[in-house]
Amino acid sequence: MSITGIKGMNDILPHDIAAWQFLEQQARQIFHTYGYKEIRVPVVEKTELFSRSIGETTDIVEKEMYTFVDKGNNSITLRPEGTAPVMRSFIQHKLYNEANSSKLYYMGPMFRYERPQKGRYRQFHQIGAEVIGQDDPRIDAQVLAMLSHFFTAVGITNVSLQLNSLGCNACRPDYRRTLIEFLTQRLDALCDDCKRRYSTNPLRVLDCKAAGCKEATATAPSVLDNLCTECEEHFHKVQHHLNALEVPYEINNRMVRGLDYYTKTTFEMVTTALGAQNAVAAGGRYDGLIQELGGPALPGIGFAMGVERLVLLLDTHKLKAPVPQLFIAALGERAQQESFVILNRLQHQGIYAEMDFSGKSLKAQMRLANKLDSVYSIVLGDNELEAGTVSLKRMADGTEMNIELHTLAASITAALDGEEA
Ligand code: ATP
Ligand code: MG
Repeated sequence: MSITGIKGMNDILPHDIAAWQFLEQQARQIFHTYGYKEIRVPVVEKTELFSRSIGETTDIVEKEMYTFVDKGNNSITLRPEGTAPVMRSFIQHKLYNEANSSKLYYMGPMFRYERPQKGRYRQFHQIGAEVIGQDDPRIDAQVLAMLSHFFTAVGITNVSLQLNSLGCNACRPDYRRTLIEFLTQRLDALCDDCKRRYSTNPLRVLDCKAAGCKEATATAPSVLDNLCTECEEHFHKVQHHLNALEVPYEINNRMVRGLDYYTKTTFEMVTTALGAQNAVAAGGRYDGLIQELGGPALPGIGFAMGVERLVLLLDTHKLKAPVPQLFIAALGERAQQESFVILNRLQHQGIYAEMDFSGKSLKAQMRLANKLDSVYSIVLGDNELEAGTVSLKRMADGTEMNIELHTLAASITAALDGEEA
């Protein structure tokens, strides 16, 4: 029996790769214009990095982490998200001393032991960005403007930006108590999960999908009515700046995030096109996280987008994997050898060219050229080699053009330029 991949961990195959490369390339290009630099951190970290930052009572830490004991008896965890590792690295390498390292982005695989379904996998990919050291509400608005810009640029329009504030250390504890009191009076209506977590993670109940919980919390006190003056002012200014930048958003006071480190501004980019997996991107402020992880008292804000969900929303039929620009069909042994050398020369000159090495008939070679969707083809035989000319055929309509063999590269480049124009 052949060996298969692990459940919930997907191969990204050549015929799907164009969408991934497009998203990655757009992200890089857009993030660079906002001054972000890429950072790459390992896929495994010490387990305590995640338990301390994400929070012991969160879904991720309670049940979703891939945690192992390695041969040295250390507990290590496959990263379930990118913010904690990036902050760990930021602190460890004292990036706060460098002028150009306060806006960072990353892309790569994340791991969570969840029930695999459409849009939810055990290895999935995120593209994320972080801004460290600035608590100005303009930064929040700018981060959201960049996120929104990205969605427009890749052509995903059926999304809406949901905005909330989760308060800070000064106001959240009071709100938490108020909410626990409220929930205590409605325990019977809550699902088993929420009965268990309402006192340790009461905000999570607001976000529960169970019908009973939704109903029971319909009249729950709103976090937005319980913000301290500082948080309220910050939230107000964020909205003011979003309006100035013409970034559309909706206030959603029931949106909580599944990680403990968030403070003040939190947000999600949601869609109705993916069923229950409606969050395509999510993030927020985490003003206490860097200090919590042993670094200086610097604020931060960031987001992560789920690439698999972006791909599902993307209009992929416009995206095509590259096709050969030229197929060389060779007739006879001498032409085979000549073609082999010409092929290599063309590739050196940046032309994507293909040929067959298995001795196929001319007919079979042309069939292959068609299958590969090559833009042009030539047939090279002894006659062509002697005359030093060859007929360049446009595969789409069969039109042919006689060219000098030694001008092949230039002729193809010119013809391809004509295709694009
Ligand atoms: P959800 O509510 O769907 O579980 P989340 O709040 O756990 O999402 P975050 O931790 O905020 O997600 O991660 C940011 C983004 O990463 C999500 O909005 C989603 O697009 C994507 N994501 C999260 N978990 C998965 C997964 N298991 N498979 C695929 N994408 C995921
Ligand atoms: Mg989740």
